[in-house]
Formats: sequence, C-alpha cells, structure tokens
Amino acid sequence: MKKILITGGAGFIGSHVVRRFVTQYPDYEIYNLDALTYAGNLENIKDIQDSTNYTFLKGDITDKALVDGLFSEYRFDGVIHLAAESHVDRSITNPLAFVTTNVIGTMNLLNAFKSLWAGNWEGKRFYHISTDEVYGTLGAEGLFTETTPYAPNSPYSASKASSDHFVRAYGETYGLPYVITNCSNNYGPNHFPEKLIPLFINNIIENKSLPVYGNGKYTRDWLFVKDHAVAIDIAFHKGKDFETYNIGGFNEWQNIDLVKLLCSIMDKKLNRESGSSEKLITYVTDRPGHDLRYAIDASKIKNELGWEPSVTFEQGLDITVDWFLQNEDWLKNVTSGDYTRYYEMQYTDK
Ligand code: NAD
Repeated sequence: MKKILITGGAGFIGSHVVRRFVTQYPDYEIYNLDALTYAGNLENIKDIQDSTNYTFLKGDITDKALVDGLFSEYRFDGVIHLAAESHVDRSITNPLAFVTTNVIGTMNLLNAFKSLWAGNWEGKRFYHISTDEVYGTLGAEGLFTETTPYAPNSPYSASKASSDHFVRAYGETYGLPYVITNCSNNYGPNHFPEKLIPLFINNIIENKSLPVYGNGKYTRDWLFVKDHAVAIDIAFHKGKDFETYNIGGFNEWQNIDLVKLLCSIMDKKLNRESGSSEKLITYVTDRPGHDLRYAIDASKIKNELGWEPSVTFEQGLDITVDWFLQNEDWLKNVTSGDYTRYYEMQYTDK
C-alpha cells in the first residue's frame, strides 16, 4: 500500500498517527483530510508539514462530491479513518452533528472506496478507528472483549457504533476489506482541553476549579496516545481483514483517584504546596446517561499482533504534564474564543 488517506489528522490522535506514518514510511504517500473544526489544529503537525511524502487536504468528509473527487484523483489504496466529532458532552447538546460527521461522513468514505476498488480488493484496506464506548457500561466486574454486544448509551457512542456497523456491513455485503479497532480513553500531548486530563492540567495552571462529575467513582481505562498510534500502525499492517481488535492500557482508574494523582504531579511540577491543587476539586451535576465503568480486554491484539503499551500511566502522565507546561502558547490559542464560550456554558452555574 502506497497511497494512504488519513482522516482527522489535525486532531488529537490523528496528529500522532500522521506523524508516525510520515516518519516511519518515507515510501508511502500520506494524505491528511481534515475539515479543521474547533478540534483540528495544524499546529499539532507543524513539524512534519514540509515532508515530501505528506499532503494536507482541507475538506469535510460529509461533502460527498469532495470525497468522491479526492478518491478519483488520488486513488488511495488505504484509508485510516479518524475524523469524527469526539466529545460526549457536545453530543448531548448537539446529537445531529455527530450523526452527520460520524455516520454520513463514514458512509461517504466507504462509498468512495467501494466505487474505486470493488472487485479489485487485493492490497486494499479500510481501517476504521473506534471507541470502547460502543459497548456501553460495565458493572464492578468484567472486561469488554471483541464479542461484547454493542449497547451505546450516549449520542456520541451511538454514532460511533452505527459507523462501526456500516463498516462491518460493507465487509459482509460488498467484500470491502476492513479492520476496526475499539480503543479506551487516550491522553497525551495535543489533547484538546475539553477532555478530563488536559482540562484539569489547564485549570490547575490557572487556579480554576476542577469539575468532577457525580461522585467521582466513574472508572475508565487510559492509554498514552503514542502507544495508540503504534497500535494503529501494527493493526493497519498486520491486522487481519474483517477483524476487530480492542486496544487498551491495562490501566483502570476511578476519576477521583486519577484527579488526585494529577493534582500531586502538578503540585510538584509547579512547586506548589502539597495538597493545594486538590483544594480545587468541585463535584458538579452528573452527565446524563453517564457510563459507570469501561475496561478493555486487549489480549487479542497483544497475543495475535504483539502490541502492548510501552509506558506506565505515571510515565505517560509525566510526559503529558511536561508537554502542556512547555507549550503554553498552544494551550492559550486553543482555549481562547469558541472554546471559552463552550466552557462557560458547560461549567458555570454548576
Ligand atoms: P479530535 O476531536 O481531537 O479530532 C477529530 C479531528 O477530526 C479534528 O482534527 C477535526 O477537525 C476532524 N473532523 C471533525 N469533523 C470532520 C469532518 N466532518 N470532516 C473532516 N474532518 C473532521 O478526536 P480524537 O480524540 O483525536 O479522536 C479521533 C478518533 O479516535 C475518533 O474517531 C474517535 O472516535 C476515536 N477515539 C478517540 C478516543 C479518545 O480518547 N480521544 C478513544 C478511542 C477512539
């Protein structure tokens, strides 16, 4: 495979995937299609923008004519699809935007790929990046596996579940060779500060309150974003057609414990008195339909493809906090304007 379309490559995870493919595979042509929504930021990939094997294409995957035009012009052999509306809270206030990008956008890519290669699938691959949230919620015990039935609870996870189903259905119906991976929560450099870890790093820097939903007992598995990018590289190259792989960090944390760990790291990094960041914790009204616990069994990708995380949570958090402290301009740019208005709407009066 030589011509690869990566969608959403200016976003958080996509930027790490683009960088990895551009630097690891100089003989591939990497095309990054991104609409540059509030979550897309070309600063995230500034370091590789002049690479000879890299082309940025600004465009919206919901624009069928644009997508069809790009596929007939560039004839991509491989697609790595990350573009999405990705924030659960935003999906609660504006669900239709999630259907439009995550479902219709994915359909446009599938249809364009099918029109180009149907009947000639040799060496072609459509790789769809998804989330563990499609499985719904767990109780205190158990893990999500690749055969756990889908039971999405938020408009975000419902839209991702729907797109997963369409990808799978195109495999069954048209023979379109796909791989799907469902990953747990990512964290790391370039993470948009509406999500828990970067939001709290930013708020601690600014001495603002740390809004913890409900009783703080929600449990998530966390994976360092660069480890996810490696997993995507491995699944893209070594994964089997028509297969799903779960990706996770083997790293479950209750939100409140994670916030306390982050507070203690930040106190040290900022030379503040121990315990001073914890005083910023404020419990806020719970998110509706909030899933209690996600936990991933990532043994299939570990055993079959030989992938596992390379850093511990403490190491990953340390790298992440250092990155945010060293990239204050990035943080200032993304927390101005639209983001500030959104943040005030979400978290004031609570
Ligand atoms: P993100 O919100 O940081 O980035 C999304 C990117 O997609 C942005 O660059 C944005 O400009 C682009 N985009 C949005 N709508 C578009 C459209 N209509 N056309 C073209 N580009 C568009 O998201 P992320 O956190 O990097 O997530 C990337 C993918 O990984 C998503 O599919 C998400 O569901 C999945 N995922 C995320 C996590 C996580 O923890 N962040 C975990 C598992 C899976």
